Amino acid sequence: MIKRRLKFGLLFVIGVLLSVVAIALTTINVSPSAAQGVQMGVLPAKPQLGDTLSVLIRTEAAVTAPAVVMDRKQYPAFQIAPNLWRSLIPTTPLDRPGDRKIQVSIDRQIQLLPVKVANRKFPTQNIWFDTKTNSIEASDYELSRVAQFKQLVTPQKFWQGAFVKPNNGPISAGFGIRRYYNGVFANDYYHRGVDYAGEVGSAVVAPAAGQVRLVGTVKQGFRIHGNCIGIDHGQGVASIFLHLSRINVKEGDFVQAGQVVGGVGSTGASTGPHLHWGLYVSGMSIDPTPWRFKGLD
Ligand SMILES: [Zn+2]
Repeated sequence: MIKRRLKFGLLFVIGVLLSVVAIALTTINVSPSAAQGVQMGVLPAKPQLGDTLSVLIRTEAAVTAPAVVMDRKQYPAFQIAPNLWRSLIPTTPLDRPGDRKIQVSIDRQIQLLPVKVANRKFPTQNIWFDTKTNSIEASDYELSRVAQFKQLVTPQKFWQGAFVKPNNGPISAGFGIRRYYNGVFANDYYHRGVDYAGEVGSAVVAPAAGQVRLVGTVKQGFRIHGNCIGIDHGQGVASIFLHLSRINVKEGDFVQAGQVVGGVGSTGASTGPHLHWGLYVSGMSIDPTPWRFKGLD
């Protein structure tokens, strides 16, 4: 009888030990297929077109930077905490909505991360113009400088927390508006930013910290953008401000969130005073709204 009790006791102890191990394994989520115990996830939970996808990759051991690919394009991943990597993937109104598989390669092991990008209806505008009137064309210098700026990927992360609004004026045109030109839908057009109807000369502030990497002026040939400033927030995130009346910074300057960088104007291709703020991730214009109100740290 005593022997039997001892046996039961022993079995009970072994049982408890096994469940403790099982619980520990589920908490750290080690799946047998992922030898390195990699955990991955995408934020936001229900993304829609225009959102920035934040791919989070947690590894148990030190690894080299994961390679992140979506729709055959590779995006940089940066270490944001010990053993935690993050890659930001832009989506735009021109992308097809629906299912995607994000491919994450770590030390030559490939894992697939499914994500569903929901469709989103953007407002439309009808633009009518006389095809005989001369339209303004961008200069090659302007185009190459802006393209160079949008390609910047700096490993440091300068921004912190939610972005502040760059001007106090009311929003006069939101992100992603689509257009009909003389009744024909423009397949490649979407409003690549947010417009603020601030008064001429009203302050334009940096929405987040960063380094000024572009200063362009009408005098230099910035016919479309007008006087403009580009701020690199780091890790492939960048802001551009167009149609300015004045510029208070120079290339190379480091700016803080809320610091005045210029004034609202109507220079370049602009029909009235307003600030155009474009926020770019890996060279693509994305919706700044989640960055403004939630932040992507
Ligand atoms: Zn605009």
